Amino acid sequence: MKDELANRSLPMSDAMMTYPVTIRKVIWENDDTFTLTLDMNGTLGEFSFLPGQFNMLYVYGIGEAAISISSDPSRTGTLDHTIHRVGTVTTALSQKKRGDVIGVRGPYGSSWPLDVAQKRDVCVITGGIGLAPLRPVIYSLLKKRDEYGRIIILYGGRSPLDLLYRVELERWEDAKNVEVLVTVDRGDSSWKGHIGVVTSLLSYIKLDSRNTIAYVCGPEIMMKYTIDELERRGLPLDRVYLSMERNMKCAVGFCGHCQYGPTFICKDGPVFPLPRIRPLLDRKEL
Ligand SMILES: Cc1cc2nc3c(=O)[nH]c(=O)nc-3n(C[C@H](O)[C@H](O)[C@H](O)COP(=O)(O)OP(=O)(O)OC[C@H]3O[C@@H](n4cnc5c(N)ncnc54)[C@H](O)[C@@H]3O)c2cc1C
Repeated sequence: MKDELANRSLPMSDAMMTYPVTIRKVIWENDDTFTLTLDMNGTLGEFSFLPGQFNMLYVYGIGEAAISISSDPSRTGTLDHTIHRVGTVTTALSQKKRGDVIGVRGPYGSSWPLDVAQKRDVCVITGGIGLAPLRPVIYSLLKKRDEYGRIIILYGGRSPLDLLYRVELERWEDAKNVEVLVTVDRGDSSWKGHIGVVTSLLSYIKLDSRNTIAYVCGPEIMMKYTIDELERRGLPLDRVYLSMERNMKCAVGFCGHCQYGPTFICKDGPVFPLPRIRPLLDRKEL
């Protein structure tokens, strides 16, 4: 993993510095999840990031939350963040409109390693909002499509209405040698697809366990079952990477809010090779 590259593009000398950025667009993905497109042409100038990195988004007078960057890393000028409204800051962000200003600092953290996936099959396994931090890696894989083998995207949501980026999911499926399988916990009258947990989708594909890299992001329980299933299918666990989205406060390793055993999610992660984090996944109340 190119950890040394993680913060290479920090446009500010002080990693704690928050910059004002204007919201260019708000898209509601479903009832409680929305995507903010931020105009990066103002204060921050050229802003680059690696797939998997996150920003701290700040609402003046309310506070900050860690949010993954969900747009195409090759796109300059704007930046997307897809946000699930759960608490104080994300609710305040959900009330923002086009033209409003919020604070941004970042990008922070490690990235999904693309170099290890060259010439191999890639299996992206994700649930719920977990597709957001994986979307930049999907864009990057598709941009250099010939450098990778099969691309398999397995995605699970609670219901059809909860699924993110539905139009894009269909578009990705049209790309050469890309398989997209989507499942929901509960269907509705319009849903003709799979029903069940995301791991059940693994039974519909044939993984070449000798030649596959897996990127996994979702609720911790989903990641735990996914890892068990991948292990059962013979995938060497050092070819599995996951993104941990624990409590984050300072994002630069000072405060300890995101400490996970001896590891800090903010500066060592959020993307980890599985062997580095697996012993901690089984421990409660870390
Ligand atoms: C590296 C990283 C990347 C992340 N990327 C994303 C992303 O792309 N998109 C995204 O949406 N989130 C992301 N998160 C998660 C996000 O940072 C947290 O959900 C954050 O805490 C939200 O801040 P908040 O103030 O809105 O919620 P908080 O107030 O911090 O609430 C967080 C949790 O507490 C619960 N809670 C809040 N208030 C109450 C209450 N009164 N009673 C009971 N429970 C309550 C909420 O349900 C929620 O589960 C990421 C986190 C990390 C560490």
